[in-house]
Amino acid sequence: ELSGGTNFIQNIINEDLKQDKNDSRVHTRFPPEPNGYLHIGHAKSICLNFGLAEAYHGLCNLRFDDTNPTKEEVEYVDSIKADVKWLGFDWGDRLFYASDYFEQLYGYAVALIKAGKAYVCDLTAEQIREYRGTLTEPGKDSLYRTRSVEENLDLFQRMRAGEFPDGSRVLRAKIDMKSPNLNMRDPVLYRIQRANHHRTGDKWCIYPMYDFAHPISDAIEEVTHSICTLEFEDHRPLYDWVLDNLDVPCRPQQIEFARLNLSHTVMSKRKLRALVEQGFVSGWDDPRMPTISGLRRRGYTPEAVRDFCDRIGVAKSNSFVDIAMLEHCIREDLNDRALRAMAVLHPLKVIIDNYPEDRVEMMDAENNPEHPDMGFRQVPFTRELYIEQDDFREDPPRKFFRLAPGREVRLKHAYIIKCERVVKDEQTGQVLELHCTYDPDTRSGMSNEVRKVKGTLHWVSAAHAVKAEVRLYDHLFIKENPEEDEDFRSNINPGSLEILTSCLVEPSLADVHPGNRYQFLRQGYFCVDTETTAGQPVFNRIVSLKDSWAK
Ligand code: ATP
Ligand code: MG
Ligand code: MG
Repeated sequence: ELSGGTNFIQNIINEDLKQDKNDSRVHTRFPPEPNGYLHIGHAKSICLNFGLAEAYHGLCNLRFDDTNPTKEEVEYVDSIKADVKWLGFDWGDRLFYASDYFEQLYGYAVALIKAGKAYVCDLTAEQIREYRGTLTEPGKDSLYRTRSVEENLDLFQRMRAGEFPDGSRVLRAKIDMKSPNLNMRDPVLYRIQRANHHRTGDKWCIYPMYDFAHPISDAIEEVTHSICTLEFEDHRPLYDWVLDNLDVPCRPQQIEFARLNLSHTVMSKRKLRALVEQGFVSGWDDPRMPTISGLRRRGYTPEAVRDFCDRIGVAKSNSFVDIAMLEHCIREDLNDRALRAMAVLHPLKVIIDNYPEDRVEMMDAENNPEHPDMGFRQVPFTRELYIEQDDFREDPPRKFFRLAPGREVRLKHAYIIKCERVVKDEQTGQVLELHCTYDPDTRSGMSNEVRKVKGTLHWVSAAHAVKAEVRLYDHLFIKENPEEDEDFRSNINPGSLEILTSCLVEPSLADVHPGNRYQFLRQGYFCVDTETTAGQPVFNRIVSLKDSWAK
């Protein structure tokens, strides 16, 4: 069972199973075009297709829909495989490519021609568009529509043989130029295009169109439920027409669901590619990107992404999902799992005047308060420490419970300290360091820990801290819907990345590895970036602690 109750697709499948349709098989597929990296919208489709197969003990194929050679590349094929695996799904031995069917597809096209249901048309692309008509105006027949079967067979074979220039002829289905559905007005099935294909090389100079290749690929693979997004609803009659007019091994049905739209980002591969190619981000895996590789590098877990896909559910009408919900999912997952650590992002020196100069006390710090079994680590406490600049105010506003002249705070896992004196730069007035005293009777965890103060701060020992770079991310776009303006790029958030280069983290973080995730106390969740080098950790802020998701 998929969580979150049954959705309308499950209802359809349940009904099909009741009627013993498709020999009671459930077979789905995820059919990405390898023309870019997958995004969180694809994750929804992956979770749905692989999830249904799992729930019904069926099968799910990974099929590359590679019929558009000019836009497709092996790099994308590889990244898509890696992303599906990372999400936790396994296609087993069911990895397919539409290009594997080029010969069969050609055969099916010949069969349509022989049945008088397809013809070679010499109209230019522009004329075809013109002849197609509009929603309010019927189309008109191409003058090539009445070509004989023999002539069509000959021309189509010569199209394949490379006798005609690119774009000079197409193969079209002979359906109905007056159909109220524009997709049914003699759609193009094949085009001539001399382009090197990442798998078939220069073997072909004609390539099938999506609307022809897709239903047949589904049928060849004996897919039962071909799930796609809503914009293909109008194509369903054509999907059915292709299968109904050919002798195919199986009769899949197309079911459409609403695509995922996420606030503060864009989701089309074309737009994401523009961001990469025009340098608005560092690559497809930039941690601000809604790509699966971007989310992974940012520090998202596959569990959180799958949880998100479960929660948003499957609907029949398009809507926007608040990105705060995705953030809520990773927060919940990491609250449960991430090790806690102390990191000071904007350091301010604190000297504890009454603490012995050469003393080092090892403080017990719990790794995850949600799970006492995750144990403790030891954090060194010394006379010279760093706290967060923001945690001190010379003139504290009301309700500021952190450090200020004459005030006390607790240093987490350690002692209560009191601010006795502020050292400032005489010229700029900038606070350089704080002189404090500590109360030796207030060590955390001691039985005599009786005094309470309102503020608790994180800190690091100056002598032990490890220097780190921390990258803070904000939404990639300022507007909830960046696409509501003509150029979505005009809504890019100029403050989407802030790099802090002089952060100080506790010594347990000296030897971290890319992908390790932590909760920095009071700051948020952070993930070790792939650009980390020995002794110079780089952390990505996955998400802050403050949850803005309104349930
Ligand atoms: P894009 O417009 O982002 O390039 P696409 O639909 O052209 O997306 P494909 O590679 O063809 O990308 O998509 C593979 C599968 O993922 C399709 O079944 C498609 O319907 C589904 N899919 C793509 N985007 C979304 C989305 N935003 N929400 C849900 N499913 C999606
Ligand atoms: Mg597509
Ligand atoms: Mg697309």
